[in-house]
Parts: sequence; C-alpha cells; structure tokens
Amino acid sequence: LPGPIAVSACLAGMPTRYDGTDRAHPLVARLIAAGKALPLCPEQIGGLPTPRKPYEIRNGVVIAQDGDDVTEAFQRGARSAVKLCLQAKVRAAVLQPRSPSCGCDMVYDGSFGGVLVPGHGVFAGMLLDAGIQVLNAAVFDTEASRG
Ligand code: SF4
Repeated sequence: LPGPIAVSACLAGMPTRYDGTDRAHPLVARLIAAGKALPLCPEQIGGLPTPRKPYEIRNGVVIAQDGDDVTEAFQRGARSAVKLCLQAKVRAAVLQPRSPSCGCDMVYDGSFGGVLVPGHGVFAGMLLDAGIQVLNAAVFDTEASRG
C-alpha cells in the first residue's frame, strides 16, 4: 500500500490505554521498523487524560460506569485523527480490538459486564466513513498463531 498505515498507539507500544498500559503487537512493531506506521491514540488526541476511566458505548453515547459522558471528546479526537490520516494519505488502519474508539466489528455494549455486541468504536467508524480500511489487530494474532 502507498502511504503509511495508521495504527492504534497502544499497539505501537505506547502506554496510552485507560489504565496506562500498552498492547505492543509484533505486526505493528514490524510496520514501525519499516517506517510505515502512523501511531495515533484518538482518546488522547481528544484531550482525555491517561490513566482515565474505562468507557463503553451505550446507545451511541460514550460513558463511564458512573455515567460520565465523554462522547464529545471521543468524537473530537477521532475527527482530528481521521483528518491527519487523510492528510498523510493513509489507506488502512490496524486497530486495537474491542475499544470504544478503535474497536472494529465488535465493541462492549455499555453494561460494563464484558458483553460484546456488533459495532465499531468511534474512531474505527469515522475511518470507515472516510473510506479508510480498518483491520482488527486480533486477525493477525490468529494468523501468527497458525504459524
Ligand atoms: Fe489504544 Fe485506541 Fe484506546 Fe488509544 S483509544 S489506548 S489507541 S485502543
């Protein structure tokens, strides 16, 4: 693919997750070494602190378990990150599974009970709307484990 590939910053080994940890991923490490990765954390770009509360999407609204509504920050960060992707001519993104921002295909249902439902995180959805392909990093875990 021409242009860089956007990657969730936590997959690039940056401690951007809500609990201050990373999810360093071997495929993403290879993209970085090849100079092909553009790491982005839409939640940090939207102005949220790290560490921060865990959030989930309930009926299109991004909330914490205590009801704190951060939909606007999520949308602001995702919009800025997508804009950067378009400027950098990104054609595809490798994203962290299940996140309310980066999750593709399946996300938590807003009950904070570990229940997954079909749907996209805010960033993944906006990337798709912009015509950028999104790839769930878990797909590459499966391929790697198959050898
Ligand atoms: Fe990783 Fe995306 Fe969550 Fe940032 S918003 S920590 S990049 S999954």
